[in-house]
Amino acid sequence: MIKKATPHLTQNEPLVFERSSPGKNGYQLPALDVPPVDAAAVLGADNTRTEIEDFPEVSEVDAIRHFTRLSTYNYAIDLGLYPLGSCTMKYNPRVNEAVARIDGLTWIHPYQPDALSQGAMEIIAALEAALIEITGMDAVTLQPAAGAHGEFTGILLVRALHESRGNARKRILIPDSAHGTNPATARMAGYEVANVPSNDRGMIDLAALEKLCDEDTAALMVTNPNTLGVFEQDITRIAEILHAKGAMVYMDGANMNALVGIARPGDFGVDVMHLNLHKTFSTPHGGGGPGSGAVAVKSHLVPFLPSPRLERSGNAWRWNYDLPQSIGKVRAFYGNFGVLVRALAYILAHGGPGLRNATLDALLNANYIRAKLEPYYEHPHKAPTMHECVFSDALQAKHGVRTGDIAKRLIDYGFHPYTVSFPLIVHGAMMIEPTETEGKIELDLFIDAMISIAEEAEREPDTVLHAPHSTRTSRVDEVTAARKPIVRWKPPQKV
Ligand SMILES: *Cc1c(COP(=O)(O)O)cnc(C)c1O
Repeated sequence: MIKKATPHLTQNEPLVFERSSPGKNGYQLPALDVPPVDAAAVLGADNTRTEIEDFPEVSEVDAIRHFTRLSTYNYAIDLGLYPLGSCTMKYNPRVNEAVARIDGLTWIHPYQPDALSQGAMEIIAALEAALIEITGMDAVTLQPAAGAHGEFTGILLVRALHESRGNARKRILIPDSAHGTNPATARMAGYEVANVPSNDRGMIDLAALEKLCDEDTAALMVTNPNTLGVFEQDITRIAEILHAKGAMVYMDGANMNALVGIARPGDFGVDVMHLNLHKTFSTPHGGGGPGSGAVAVKSHLVPFLPSPRLERSGNAWRWNYDLPQSIGKVRAFYGNFGVLVRALAYILAHGGPGLRNATLDALLNANYIRAKLEPYYEHPHKAPTMHECVFSDALQAKHGVRTGDIAKRLIDYGFHPYTVSFPLIVHGAMMIEPTETEGKIELDLFIDAMISIAEEAEREPDTVLHAPHSTRTSRVDEVTAARKPIVRWKPPQKV
């Protein structure tokens, strides 16, 4: 009945410490032919040791098999579809990795003098220029390390602009469908948050926005398309409402995968936005790995951008630190350079028409999934879908099966779960973003799995309620796992 062909390996692999046996090792070194250094004399006796207690002693093949088996417990984009909505988990083309591994790029050091860093600076400049073209904005900083960090940087820019005009203002307006990082950002930048309600089509309620927006409003933070996968069709009117009160429009650009090559935020009234390069422009992400939250601004915010700024001087690039109105540095050096290289490789490998095609394919895939699943799952907001679609578990909840249960059951079918219970305005949300990289065969497998689970929820809800059945561990106490994680192995007490 289960059609997807990637069973989980369920070998009961012990910890590497448990594989250890005294005297085994995985290396052979020639005998030391220089006088040994007395480490204790150099570093101090307190800082040196001759033995590492309970250090695992294993052979090369033991180590390789151990880590290879562990790797099979993981799900990866190279194994299959990763339908996490809002995350844009697309396949990462290998050419990005090949480029990022070029010797001159992997060995470069940020303290190298400008004269020896011109190639790397050219990469940064080329990426800035490409992102300006894609967003329709006037300038870009690549310093922020992730989307949330880009939001924080962007709102600090807004604050600096208002301060330069004599009043930092008090409040940031945020739609109720927003990602949690938006209100967190506003608070961290010292602003109050006011919630803007959505209408029944899943868009900002204009009348409510007009009421809320006043001279104390610093900015609106809007995700477009929003987290329901719906394009805010009144965005230019929204921008007019904000601008009439001297407030800024901040766009959370995490969903730019739906717009690249089609529409530019700079053309529909946005003053400042971030891009998640690790989403829209590929590069592996998840689990807190490196990202890049590039921030793009219109000209009135340029003087406040983080320092240093890259500038052309004669035939060379140089870093300009002499920026009296800058908010200062937001990160060491110039951003996550490896991610920047991958994003530029992605953009150049696709070219303009290729990027536009990727967007259209992402939209097509999401709409295909929505149309196929609509008979089986409730689709609460009846607006056209962009690059992702949001269902609710209302039909399955009648049998006691909730979004989290369906997500767990997907694991048995060989898929990573979709995004569970977000956005918050959809009760029992199931948020699905296939991205453009999935072909029809993979999409159909996923759709079959979802339909099959909907049928199970009706006929044999227990199968879904106790899923996953095919993994090494089944359900864990997620709250305790998140709040009190035990991330360090300790040797068993010696007796
Ligand atoms: C992912 C995401 C963010 C945060 O980006 P990070 O890179 O994870 O910090 C913010 N808003 C939306 C809508 C997102 O999807």
